[in-house]
Amino acid sequence: MENPKEKYPKPPFQEQSQTWPGLAGKMEPKPDHGETSYKGSGRLKGRRALITGGDSGMGRAAAIAYAREGADVAINYYPSEEPDAREVIELIKAEGVHAEAIPGDLREEAFCVRLVNEAIEKLGGLDIIVNNAGRQQAHESIMDISTADFDATMKTNIYAPFWIIKAALPHLQPGSVIIGTTSEQAYDPTPDLYDYAQTKAATMNYIKSLAKQLGPKGIRVNGVAPGPIWTPLQVSGGASMEKLKKFGSQTVFGRPGQPAELASIYVQLADSNASFTTGAVYGASGGAGQP
Ligand code: NAD
Ligand code: MG
Repeated sequence: MENPKEKYPKPPFQEQSQTWPGLAGKMEPKPDHGETSYKGSGRLKGRRALITGGDSGMGRAAAIAYAREGADVAINYYPSEEPDAREVIELIKAEGVHAEAIPGDLREEAFCVRLVNEAIEKLGGLDIIVNNAGRQQAHESIMDISTADFDATMKTNIYAPFWIIKAALPHLQPGSVIIGTTSEQAYDPTPDLYDYAQTKAATMNYIKSLAKQLGPKGIRVNGVAPGPIWTPLQVSGGASMEKLKKFGSQTVFGRPGQPAELASIYVQLADSNASFTTGAVYGASGGAGQP
């Protein structure tokens, strides 16, 4: 038994900031992605997964869990995140499954298409796609968001999943799953995340429309909606210093979540045992309610 309130670090956190996209390895305290705790039981044996943003945060927690459940895993990340990605690749390989690293910029359509094709080629097919990468840059006012900023957020959070799903769909067999990382921001936006929050509403929405469109093909589409989670995204422009120091204090446990606490949700949504679950968004918000 573990008391969720006492399980992980609480605010106040020390001041820290990194240039985008940040590294988990440089955070203090270091996030827990389940490196030493996640135990698998063959739930995804023989499956082949592509996870964007698989180097850190929720993507890394999902990558470790998928490998320990027996899946082959390809991760995508931004090239400057190589140090985080290397650690994940080593952890995946330690499970005796295939690990593929495919770095590149998701804001480019040509790269998204190449990413899918390379993953299929290297893993011999794909049946789990986790569109998890995301860009979050906080701005107090809409007046502070440049067109280039707005465009980068839309490209990363909305266009990339669109391009990736289109490239993958012709190759997905019945039983395949698509999982998107949305957010509690989708339905309860904070004022400093004007652009980001609307992309998470869009993510929640595509999960529901695509689930209806692809259900008849035997493909399930679901989402995960985290609350405040301790990841590089928050220390590389995602939260103001003021917000970061008390990060997660508003949750019922008085602390942020850790990526490891969401790993089992990504596994559950990918597992064929969840065969009637589609168009669903699972929340992990520390008490904020239903997505
Ligand atoms: P993270 O920084 O660990 O992961 C985000 C990843 O997105 C990065 O590791 C990076 O690899 C990838 N990425 C961003 N822009 C990219 C680009 N142009 N090209 C390639 N890769 C790019 O942070 P995280 O919090 O684990 O984020 C994962 C998902 O969770 C995101 O979609 C985020 O919006 C969502 N989310 C996070 C929180 C939170 O509090 N941390 C809450 C709700 C939702
Ligand atoms: Mg990262």
